[in-house]
Amino acid sequence: MLYNNLSVNESGHLTIGGLDATELAATYGTPLYVLDEDVVRSNCRTYVGAMHEHFGSDAAPLYASKALCFKGIYPVAESEGMCVDVVSPGEIYTALAAGFPAEKMFFHGTNKTDEDIEFGVANGIGYFVVDNMNELEVLDRVAGEHGIIQPVLLRLTVGLDPHTLEAINTGRVDSQFGVPIDTGQADGFVRAALACSNIRVEGFHSHVGSQIFESESFCRQVEILAEYAAKIKAETGFEAGIFNIGGGFGVRYTEKDPLSDIPERIREVSEHLKATCARLGLNVPRIFMEPGRSIVADAGVTLYTTGGTKEVKGYRNYVTVDGGMTDNPRYALYKSEYTVLNASRMNEPADYECTIAGRCCESGDRIAEYIGIARPERGDTIAVLTTGAYNYAMASNYNRVPRPAMVMISGGEARLVVRRESFEDMMKNEL
Ligand SMILES: *Cc1c(COP(=O)(O)O)cnc(C)c1O
Repeated sequence: MLYNNLSVNESGHLTIGGLDATELAATYGTPLYVLDEDVVRSNCRTYVGAMHEHFGSDAAPLYASKALCFKGIYPVAESEGMCVDVVSPGEIYTALAAGFPAEKMFFHGTNKTDEDIEFGVANGIGYFVVDNMNELEVLDRVAGEHGIIQPVLLRLTVGLDPHTLEAINTGRVDSQFGVPIDTGQADGFVRAALACSNIRVEGFHSHVGSQIFESESFCRQVEILAEYAAKIKAETGFEAGIFNIGGGFGVRYTEKDPLSDIPERIREVSEHLKATCARLGLNVPRIFMEPGRSIVADAGVTLYTTGGTKEVKGYRNYVTVDGGMTDNPRYALYKSEYTVLNASRMNEPADYECTIAGRCCESGDRIAEYIGIARPERGDTIAVLTTGAYNYAMASNYNRVPRPAMVMISGGEARLVVRRESFEDMMKNEL
């Protein structure tokens, strides 16, 4: 199976972290997000361990909240020694409500409004990752009004194409994120930041993309950042003490995706960084990374109940589920592939070729196309793997479908962590 927390029990049912998927579906209803906390923790430990070993004990991974933001994730991240990256006051509010310390938060966002900046400063956010000049000016003023010196990282665009999907490729020069080095604009940005009296520049940030399996783009990125840092040091005397190199290691959605050895990739990046800094006469900076997907994606499984099959003669077979693009819009958005299993019939051959269709009145509402699963009957539990990232976080109420519940499992026990939305919940702001 794709992951080793999945297995098959004596009833021929899928088990997740030791629990029968069909029983979880019966107990909590479907669609249901299942998040294996033990897998999340083990992913956190992989990063913390490898980063400490290779970058030094002051290095840290920040969990990129946007992948999966709900109250229950923050205590897990904190107890595993992670900081977090937040991209909106909503994520900050959620993290604070969960008791996560503000000083361990890094506030991202390409257009932070005056209110956002005020909210972040008033709540004592550890670092602002300043995206642009407009933000810099407002942040300097707001920090001054609060009588603080705000630590910041400056978001730079390194002009790199990591050969992933266009829509999640953010490091190229032509990007709405950060200030480009190639065009010379970063120079003015850095100098302006260094001149702000209520801001303390501690280093640089850049993020080149997502679903990256190799270390080459990270190596190239740290090299560009280090060369730029050396130039700034020569020109201004300022030496960047921190490089935050963003997120993006890939996960396996299907058997076709490679298995990425994250500690080995981190070791490669660290060696390249150290060699580059030695060549340039720089101190090796403190390193942060921002994994989101690779912390939570493979910990998540979505369970659906199928409405049965529909065979369009001469064309294809459909298997319908009681969710779809409302709880997982990634196929509709990016044609992202998923592994789908008939959790009720794991011992039967997965030879029914079909397309998994959701319940919305939208022909794009699909989860996977032309895949094989064990031929289902109405009422079977269908499991879609690797849904921990960018599923709950991107869910909608399209067609007035309530968002699913979520259970977290740990040590063979399940507990409800997000209640299923009710019809009243969906109407609560409507006058
Ligand atoms: C999306 C994003 C991340 C996380 O990316 P993953 O692919 O989920 O690891 C990290 N940093 C920034 C700036 C991002 O935009």
